[in-house]
Amino acid sequence: MASEDWITLRLEDDPRWRRLHNRPFVCRTCGATHEGFFDVFCVRPEQWTGGEEYSPNGSVLTSGHFLSEDFCILDGEHFFVRSVLLIPILGAPDESFGFGVWSTLSKKNFSIYVDAFESGECDGLGPWFGWFSNRLEGYPDTLNLKCQVHPRSGRMRPIIELEPIDHPLVDEQRHGVSFDRLLDIYAAHGHDLRAALVD
Ligand SMILES: [Zn+2]
Repeated sequence: MASEDWITLRLEDDPRWRRLHNRPFVCRTCGATHEGFFDVFCVRPEQWTGGEEYSPNGSVLTSGHFLSEDFCILDGEHFFVRSVLLIPILGAPDESFGFGVWSTLSKKNFSIYVDAFESGECDGLGPWFGWFSNRLEGYPDTLNLKCQVHPRSGRMRPIIELEPIDHPLVDEQRHGVSFDRLLDIYAAHGHDLRAALVD
């Protein structure tokens, strides 16, 4: 194939892309059925060493140890919220890939967020400073990257915006990833889709 053909190749013309979107398929790594893009998520912050069973969000305290789907507290001193890091996909402006990840918040901002969470009214809140609180496979260490946490209304998880430093994850968030790179990311996180997409 001449190089010009690569330039004009549209993502929708990639048979793997079409296969991903056309109908469900069974993932050969995790065994689940996937269709289209799905988020990859971290169950807990890296710093959490307890069990992975979630308490209800509504029972959140501001002391002791606590883990729910959206909140985490360590020793009553360290406060974390579940957020989303969106990564654009090159050639697919209407879609993006999401990492479900955790970030710290100050105690004050954590309390504000918890209070707003139930109502889903987050207009005018944030962005708030946080430390990225997961190690993502396939990258140089991502723990404690600086970020901004943008709360969203409507009970949607906050968006993480990494501060601009020289790091591949920062670069991918700002500039996007190719479809091939995205398949590598899925594979590194327990979903090797590549074989299933060429059936
Ligand atoms: Zn899978």
